[in-house]
Amino acid sequence: MKAAQAAVAYRERLLHLPVGVTMTRDELMMRVNTVLPEAGEAPETALDTLIASVEKGLVNSSSPRYFGFVVGGSTPVSAAADWLTAVWNQNAQVYATSPSASIIEEVVARWILELLDLPKQAGVGFVTGTQMAHFTALAIARNAVLQQYGWDGVANGLQGAPYIQIICGECCHATLHTAIHMIGLGNNNVRVVPADGEGRMDLAAFQQTLADCAGPTIVCVQAGNVNTGAFDPIDRIIALSQKKGAWVHVDGAFGLWAGTSPRFKHLVAGIEKADSWATDAHKWLNVPYDSGMVIVRAADAFSDFKAGRCAYAGPADTSHRDGSQWTPENSRRARAFVLYAALRSLGRQGVQQIIENCCDMACFFASELSGIPGARILNQVILNQVLCRIELPGVADLDGFNAAVAARIQQEGVCWMGTTRWDGQTALRISVSNWATRREDVAQSVQSIIRAVDQLKPVENLPDGRSGG
Ligand SMILES: *Cc1c(COP(=O)(O)O)cnc(C)c1O
Repeated sequence: MKAAQAAVAYRERLLHLPVGVTMTRDELMMRVNTVLPEAGEAPETALDTLIASVEKGLVNSSSPRYFGFVVGGSTPVSAAADWLTAVWNQNAQVYATSPSASIIEEVVARWILELLDLPKQAGVGFVTGTQMAHFTALAIARNAVLQQYGWDGVANGLQGAPYIQIICGECCHATLHTAIHMIGLGNNNVRVVPADGEGRMDLAAFQQTLADCAGPTIVCVQAGNVNTGAFDPIDRIIALSQKKGAWVHVDGAFGLWAGTSPRFKHLVAGIEKADSWATDAHKWLNVPYDSGMVIVRAADAFSDFKAGRCAYAGPADTSHRDGSQWTPENSRRARAFVLYAALRSLGRQGVQQIIENCCDMACFFASELSGIPGARILNQVILNQVLCRIELPGVADLDGFNAAVAARIQQEGVCWMGTTRWDGQTALRISVSNWATRREDVAQSVQSIIRAVDQLKPVENLPDGRSGG
């Protein structure tokens, strides 16, 4: 009861809370860093302590004025379904541990494929996020491309295996590199294709790199760059790769959702011809962390994960879904309950509206920002991402100035945005990914940026030589 009340009160206050934190690490640590209690305290007391201890250190990223990284909010219904998931405490490992979790996974998998317009027969695993989706998909890809050359990766691993070529774009997400070394392929072995000014793989350079590759090959493409929102020329890359028998994996953490809107569908044209896809629900679908999906065209390739488990789970029974056969994990939270509630409450139209509204708000942001003296938009705003750099005359260290502007904005608390490095320069990165962001949120946030710039801009010299103050 107490937790439910505290949760409801938090959501009600969310719009009025400073978006960023209001305590330093030391202050936060002072509140929580006690000795391990010898005797336990009453559950209610422990909860009170928890709430009081962490509140000031929460980044209120479900606020419609949170524009940091690429972070979704959580819709009320998805947050509520998440509480129930915790209370029901189902293990989504096998059918026997939770028949409901199993059938909901089946249905949500089908819905997701329909919604994202991916092949109907593809397999879907419910993982923590795109990082794990990459890891899972690339482990499957590795075994599949080795199989083409007569090598059994599940039985023999990489010891003595044929060399695998991996191609990534220069602006690919860091999580791909993490996945690549975790599956044993090594980051030094990645062939990096140069990108254009928007972060898209250069097609001619890709073609050349691919021509150099012989043997098992994996190509990673990006749908939605975290800085610019740009898409690699996916259609062409897939066509070229398939001629060589290469596996194509798509990083579509948020960009894959562009396909749910007729206005942005062209960005993902041809994407359904890839071999695997990684995406997040905790970004653009606005469900609570952690929720991602790994999707593989050849659904039976997921059997790689069953290989070691036969003795434990018994022979595969295809009359039902065992969740753990679709992810590297064994025991696991029943994440699909939340997705089911979210998709029921939004419907196809609701999802489309979130995507389109975020993109509209990003355009509005960009046009308002261009009115600020010295502000320059660095990217083509084609989706939900805006890069803005403030370049005032008389500022020697523009990188430092832009970092200071972001820090001032965060401190003020009206909105939250961070910085990134783009084209060798520091810029404000604005990602509009929240279901609830409206024009007035953008307008208030632009005012906050203007205030930060005004407070930090160099004092102009007055005509008579005195310094103004
Ligand atoms: C967020 C993101 C990732 C990583 O996703 P996680 O859910 O944090 O694991 C990978 N690629 C892109 C393009 C992203 O935006």
